[in-house]
Amino acid sequence: MVSVGAPAVEPFTRLSEDVWLSRVASEDTPLNIGLVIGPDRAVLVDPGPTDAEDAVYANLLERVRELTDAELVVVSTHGHADHIGANAYLRAHGAAAVWAHCDAGVGTATDLVEEEPVTLELGQGLSVVLEHLGRGHTEGDLVVGVQREDRQGRGILFCGDLVREGTDPRFRDSYPKEWVRTLGRIWSMSGTYAKFVPGHGRPVDAEFVASMRRRMQQGHNVSSQAIRDSVNDATKAIPILPYGPDESRELITRLRGDDS
Ligand SMILES: [Zn+2]
Repeated sequence: MVSVGAPAVEPFTRLSEDVWLSRVASEDTPLNIGLVIGPDRAVLVDPGPTDAEDAVYANLLERVRELTDAELVVVSTHGHADHIGANAYLRAHGAAAVWAHCDAGVGTATDLVEEEPVTLELGQGLSVVLEHLGRGHTEGDLVVGVQREDRQGRGILFCGDLVREGTDPRFRDSYPKEWVRTLGRIWSMSGTYAKFVPGHGRPVDAEFVASMRRRMQQGHNVSSQAIRDSVNDATKAIPILPYGPDESRELITRLRGDDS
């Protein structure tokens, strides 16, 4: 039983023939948890939330097992606590591996993605590609692409918190200048992927990614200018940044420390 007040894992809903999505309440807005099901293997993307009681993670595993009994592999798009909360529980309860980027600092990871993309075969032409497109939301973000031989151009890309829908991007551990470039790379994959699943918020299309990139470029330009103009009080730029005050402050702080 999940006790009263503990976050409930929503039932998985179907995004495509092979891809499912669930949500669970997390620190701020609900976290998306992805599930890709092949005949030989299933991949669970970002099982969270942070520090929940085991019953919550058991509930998540139960929901997965209602849909598949294939070998389960976990992928963490980055190391933030809300995205990796269930990793240890899932490892202790049969998950075969936990993949993350080598710079993500995911202590529960068993396998690391470095420069080269890693492809996991799920059976019958279904595959999942784990790839680091450059720094952005954190130092070690992965995107997780779902492709099928017979459905070219209609893949689904899990973007972690590199993409965020409904609320401002989170800049706390970010590399804003590189993030703009990484968003450009995500957008350029729109020939392969038709749908982009953010870490938080609703799935989006390539146009959304392009507009997020434009806004971030603008935020970067305005902040950088403000830092140059008024070294001691760049926070004057906050009202004209395209984000709320807290995230604008984080953006300026990160740009100050970032000489990239
Ligand atoms: Zn995050």
